[in-house]
Amino acid sequence: MKTCPYAKKCGGCDYQGISYSKQLAMKQEYTEKLLKEFCPVHPITGMEDPYHYRNKVHAVFNRTRDGQIISGMYEENSHRVVPVDDCQIENEKADAIIRDIRDMLRSFKITVYNERSGQGLLRHALIRTASFTGQILVVLVVTSPIFPSKNNFVKALRKKHPEITSVVLNLNDKYTSMVLGKRDIVLYGPGYIEDQICGKTFRISAQSFYQINPLQAEKLYNKAIELAGLTGKERVIDAYCGTGTIGLAASDNAGEIIGVELNPEAVKDAVRNTKSNQVRNARFYCADAGEFMEQMAADGETADVVIMDPPRSGSTEQFMDSLGKLGPSRIVYVSCNPETQRRDIQYLQKLGYKAVEVWPYDFFGFTSHVECVVLMLRKNT
Ligand code: SAH
Repeated sequence: MKTCPYAKKCGGCDYQGISYSKQLAMKQEYTEKLLKEFCPVHPITGMEDPYHYRNKVHAVFNRTRDGQIISGMYEENSHRVVPVDDCQIENEKADAIIRDIRDMLRSFKITVYNERSGQGLLRHALIRTASFTGQILVVLVVTSPIFPSKNNFVKALRKKHPEITSVVLNLNDKYTSMVLGKRDIVLYGPGYIEDQICGKTFRISAQSFYQINPLQAEKLYNKAIELAGLTGKERVIDAYCGTGTIGLAASDNAGEIIGVELNPEAVKDAVRNTKSNQVRNARFYCADAGEFMEQMAADGETADVVIMDPPRSGSTEQFMDSLGKLGPSRIVYVSCNPETQRRDIQYLQKLGYKAVEVWPYDFFGFTSHVECVVLMLRKNT
């Protein structure tokens, strides 16, 4: 097992120092403790390689007292920067790009931002990589759009890393702990990269939401679609749909997909992804999922299958009560938090649904996170 020299200071990996097989056993046990009383829990699907899985890497820059430029991450619960050259869960190419950016700064006379004084140009670098297409997006988060010899900088960086397909300046001149500001200025390439999940292409820009570990996400989505039991005719609601990944992946096997998501930027991406994949049977709405479902139920609409993937806080009674009224024969409940999932399963059982099987997945090795898909069936079907 690789040991991490930064673990003590960084604190990002709570399963540090534990073998991967033991980590999976711990996640299995945790899932069973919460969900086994409802139905069988299948063995967790782990990663083939638990290292370097994060496709999105964020580095913060700083200067030490003796003037050296460092890059790394914030120490846990603080704004002190821990210098990190090579993180065991981050994409290795992304880390190499960050090291080279850091080493190029001095010769290009690019200053790094100092949180205390508010002086300096470069705050962060965000590298997004696409595992399927190999494309890489570099986002340089800066306090001013005036970046010294930007064309030469991009040229020099691409010489070292020709796999970089786009470079963007993101302007963040606010005193804030948010990494990204609102404005993007494209320096090179289209300003985004594309990746594939389940045979569909997704556009990833600086701001867009995308799975951190798409290899595992794809496995989970395939399982969710299998559990949905689609024959090509069903009306499927993809609730809490983000950029529409699950719904679009399911669209070839369904009659109709209706997606609902609160974040307007994610909905825009979902609509764009629908068009670019020439999917004609999917529609996406920007709304609170609970209100949307309540309205559908009030309008006398029905649905055959509801796939739901709520945030960590879980779903709401408003959502689930409306689900009971819409009466889908199947609910496929995807969750990143089995504790709230347990609470919601208990509620749905009262509304006439029964949990049938649980499939846990590991997306985030060296952390305690676990993702689960649970199939629930309406009792009288
Ligand atoms: N299914 C997507 C995203 C799941 S993450 C995927 O697999 O990629 C959960 C999503 O729920 C986020 O995109 C978040 O913006 C959205 N969300 C949070 N609260 C919501 C609400 N009340 N109504 C609708 N969507 C909500």
